Formats: sequence, structure tokens, C-alpha cells
Amino acid sequence: AKSAGGNRYEMADEEADARAITRHGLTTALPAALERGEFFIEYQPLVHLGDGSVSGAEALVRWSHPQHGVLGPDRFIQLAERTGLIVPLGRWVLEESVRQACRWQERNAGDTTVPLRINVNLSPCQLTHPGLVSDTVEILERAGLAPAALCLEVTESALIGADDDLLKPLRRLAEMGVDIALDDFGTGYSNLANLRRLPVSVLKLDRSFTQGMQQFPADPVDLKIVEGIVSLAHSLDLAVTVEGVETGVQAEQLRELGCDTAQGWYYARPGPPDRLHDLALADATS
Ligand code: C2E
Ligand code: CA
Ligand code: CA
Ligand code: CA
Repeated sequence: AKSAGGNRYEMADEEADARAITRHGLTTALPAALERGEFFIEYQPLVHLGDGSVSGAEALVRWSHPQHGVLGPDRFIQLAERTGLIVPLGRWVLEESVRQACRWQERNAGDTTVPLRINVNLSPCQLTHPGLVSDTVEILERAGLAPAALCLEVTESALIGADDDLLKPLRRLAEMGVDIALDDFGTGYSNLANLRRLPVSVLKLDRSFTQGMQQFPADPVDLKIVEGIVSLAHSLDLAVTVEGVETGVQAEQLRELGCDTAQGWYYARPGPPDRLHDLALADATS
């Protein structure tokens, strides 16, 4: 038993070492990875809860690492933020997904369905970067995408206590017609009255709220909370998107509670751009 314990410790140490090396290795490999084109984007549909039609997609970045395989953003976004690479990486994600949104719209040309919109995550570091507004304008213009087809997602925690300097670029983008969504809403304990000050048009309810609705019947307190958030949001003219919808029961409850849009495995996992186009077309013709 003793030697097994010893082995376990050795294993744990080795794993810890491997993780540390990997973290350091990943950090130093990031800039070259961007130049070599090792990042790619998966798209997860956003669906109108009213009629189930696809309204657009969220762009979610992945790293196809030559040794470690495909890495999710939880493995490298923080590292990229710490080293500043998040600014060029985030710009690449925005550029690539805006171009993709244009391709969907071109393939849909002649179709009378509403054009697919694209949601892109913004890191707090990008918010304070002076090039945010000009880069975004340039990317939209070069691709020929209407600002109203773009939604930038900013986490609630990034905007807690935000002063006017931080909000100014977001306000300018909102004035141009870009939607700003408050991501992971409900996890940041922000002052609800503060919402009026923010240039946001969408609340994106965190997955923790939808998790409480997985069992049936759902926790009545969870239902009350979501109901309250939805009515507050709508009274402030904000749309409500829910994330992490995994079952039809959840979807139905969230629809009844008045949520506008939903995202989650129940509809589709994140996937390649063509799949999103097929999904959107399928429900437009069904
Ligand atoms: P997020 O913005 O909250 O994105 C939603 C996450 O939930 C995604 O994880 C998505 O794959 C996952 N998800 C979607 N539906 C379901 C579901 O039904 N059940 C469950 N359990 N999970 C679901 P992912 O792709 O691993 O991304 C994690 C986080 O990484 C994102 O959280 C976002 O904060 C960040 N991220 C992703 N792409 C970017 C990017 O381009 N830039 C920045 N700054 N952050 C990014
Ligand atoms: Ca997001
Ligand atoms: Ca989120
Ligand atoms: Ca989340």
C-alpha cells in the first residue's frame, strides 16, 4: 500500500510537471501558432425560442496544436490574455468570423430569411486596447458586413464597476449598430440598476441558471429568478439569450419564461461553418 501511495505521488508530481511544462510550452508557442494558422473557429447556433429558427451563431476559438491535438479555449485564452497575444488573436477571431458571416449571407442571397448574425467574444484586454473601435470598423467594412449583423459578447465581470473610459469604445460600437451582449450574466453580482448605464442590448444568462432546470419539475426558485431577470431585461429593452440548453424540457420552460434566444447542445454542439449553414437552411425550408 505504501509503495502504491508513493507511486501515486510520483505520478501526481509528474502530471503536475507535465502540466507546468505544457503551460509554459503553450505560452511560448502561442505567437507562432497564430502565424502558422493553427487556430480555427467552431460555430454554435443561436436559436429563436419562439419558432426554433436559427438566428445566428457564436464563434468559439480552438487551437489545433501539432503535439497536443485540439485544445479548447479554457486551455489557452488566459495564457493569451496574460501575454497580450489575446489582442491579435481576438482580432483574428473577429476578422475570420465576420468573413464567415458574409459567406453565409452570400450563400443565402435571394433567400428571404433573416440574415445570420455572428456573436464574437471580447476579452477584457481587448476592451482597453485603443484599436478596438477602428479595427472593428475596418474589419466590417472590408468584409462588407452590416454592423447590425455583429454582436460582441463581453462578460458581466469585465464591466462591473466599469468607468466611462472603459465604456466609451463599447458605446461607439453600439451607436454604429453593433449589438453588445452581457455574457455570463448572473455570475458577476452586478448592480441591476447599473444595467441602464451599460451600452448593452442583450443579456446572456449564464449556464448555471439553465442547469437548475434540468430536472423536472424544475426548482421553483430558479424559475422565479429567471422570470424576474427576463421581465427586468425586457422592461429595459434588452433581449435575453440563454446558454447551456441541453434538453427539450429546459427549452420549453425557458420559452414559457419569455427568453428570446437559446444556445446549447440540445440544438447543436459547436461545429464547422458549413454545418451551421445547413442547419439554418434546413429550418428555413422545413
Ligand atoms: P462562453 O462564452 O460562455 O461560451 C459558451 C461555452 O459553453 C462554450 O465553451 C460552449 O462550447 C459551451 N456550451 C455550449 N452549449 C453547451 C451546453 O449545452 N452544455 C454545456 N455544458 N456547455 C455548452 P468553449 O467553446 O469551451 O468556450 C469556453 C469559453 O472560452 C467561452 O465561454 C468564452 O468565454 C471563451 N472563448 C471562446 N472563444 C473565445 C474567443 O474567441 N475569444 C475570447 N476572448 N474568449 C473565447
Ligand atoms: Ca460567449
Ligand atoms: Ca457565456
Ligand atoms: Ca459561461
